[in-house]
Amino acid sequence: MDKNKIYNFSAGPAMLPIEVLKKARLELCNWKNSGKSVMEISHRSKEFTLILEELECNIRSLLNIPSHYKVLFCHGGARGQFSAIPINLLRNNLYPDYINSGYWSYSAAMESKKYCIPNIINVRQILNKKNCIFPMKDWKINNKNAYLHYCPNETIEGIAIYEEPKFDDNIIVIGDFSSTLFSRTIHLEKYSVIYASSQKNIGPAGVTIVIIRQDLLGKSRNICPSILNYEILFKNNSMFNTPATFSLYLSGLVLKWLKKLGGLKKIEKINKKKAKLLYNTIDSTNFYINDVASYNRSLMNVTFTITDNNLHKLFLKKSHEFGLHYLNGHSAVGGLRASIYNAMPIEGVISLTNFMKNFEKEHG
Ligand SMILES: *Cc1c(COP(=O)(O)O)cnc(C)c1O
Repeated sequence: MDKNKIYNFSAGPAMLPIEVLKKARLELCNWKNSGKSVMEISHRSKEFTLILEELECNIRSLLNIPSHYKVLFCHGGARGQFSAIPINLLRNNLYPDYINSGYWSYSAAMESKKYCIPNIINVRQILNKKNCIFPMKDWKINNKNAYLHYCPNETIEGIAIYEEPKFDDNIIVIGDFSSTLFSRTIHLEKYSVIYASSQKNIGPAGVTIVIIRQDLLGKSRNICPSILNYEILFKNNSMFNTPATFSLYLSGLVLKWLKKLGGLKKIEKINKKKAKLLYNTIDSTNFYINDVASYNRSLMNVTFTITDNNLHKLFLKKSHEFGLHYLNGHSAVGGLRASIYNAMPIEGVISLTNFMKNFEKEHG
C-alpha cells in the first residue's frame, strides 16, 4: 500500500502547523544568528523578553483584549488552574457555582472541593437521543455565589456551548477554554477570567494562558502557592520562576501563523467548514452516530461511534494504516473522536471522510 500523508487527529498534545515546525527546525540550532538555540538562552535576556512581549501582543490583538485585562503565562496546565482559580479568587465567600457539562467541567468542580464548597449545576440533558445543554437563562446559578465556572468546549464528549455569558454584571464568569481558545471569535469582556493550556490549539504542552480582569488580582488566600498566584505572576511578568521558554517560543510562532492566516474570523470560517464536512458525513448514514444536538456540536472535537460497536477496533486499525492517526475516543467515553484544531488542514478532514465512506462500504 502507498504510504499516505499522515494526519494526526490527537486531542492533545495535538498537531502543529507544518509551517511552524519547519521554521522552528530552521532556527533550532542557530536562533536569529545568535549561534545558540532559543532553548539555551536566559529567560531574563533581552532576546527572550522580546519573544514573550510579542506573544502577549499577538494574543491581545487576536482576542481583542482590553487593557484592563492581564495576560499571564502559568505552569501546571488547565488542571493547575482547577486549583489556582479557587485559591486565587475565594477568600471570604467559599461558595462558587460550577456548571457541569461534561468530564472537564466536572473535574474542575471536584478539584475545587479542596478549597471551597462548589454548587454543582448540571446543565446537560438528552432530548431526542441527543446530548444538549440548557440555554444559559435556565442555568440555576446563585447570584450570591463567588463566581461561575464553566467549560465552553468539552474536549472529551465533543460538546460545545456557543452562547456567551449574559448574567448580571456582578457575576464573575470563568471559562476553561483549553480546547477552543483561538478557534473562533469571542467577546472577552463577557468573561472575568479565561484560561487554556497550550497543547490543544496553541502550541506544544507546557504553557497555560490565563487572561484575567485586573481588579481580580490580589484576592488570593494566604495558602496560595506563589507559583500559582496571579498577582505574583503579574508583578513578575510571568517570570516568577523559569517559564517553559521553548513552548512559549513555539506558541509565539503558532499565533504569528494564525495572524498571518487572517486571525480568528478567518480561522472560524475554516473550522466551521471542516466540522461541517465531518458531521455531514456522519449524519448521511446510520452507520455512524454522533449523539450531540447540532447546536452543541464541537467545532474542535468531533466524537462519533459506529452503530456496530464491534467495528471500532477495526476502524482504528485500518484508519491508522491509511495515515489517519489517533482517532480513538477518550478512555472515559470510548468510541471515536477526531480532533480538528486550527492546525488540521481541510485536506486531512477530506481524507478522513473518504476513509469513512469506504470503510462503511466495506463493513456496512
Ligand atoms: C485538556 C483539557 C484539560 C486538561 O489540561 P491539562 O493541561 O492536561 O491540565 C482541561 N480542560 C479542558 C477543557 C481540556 O481540553
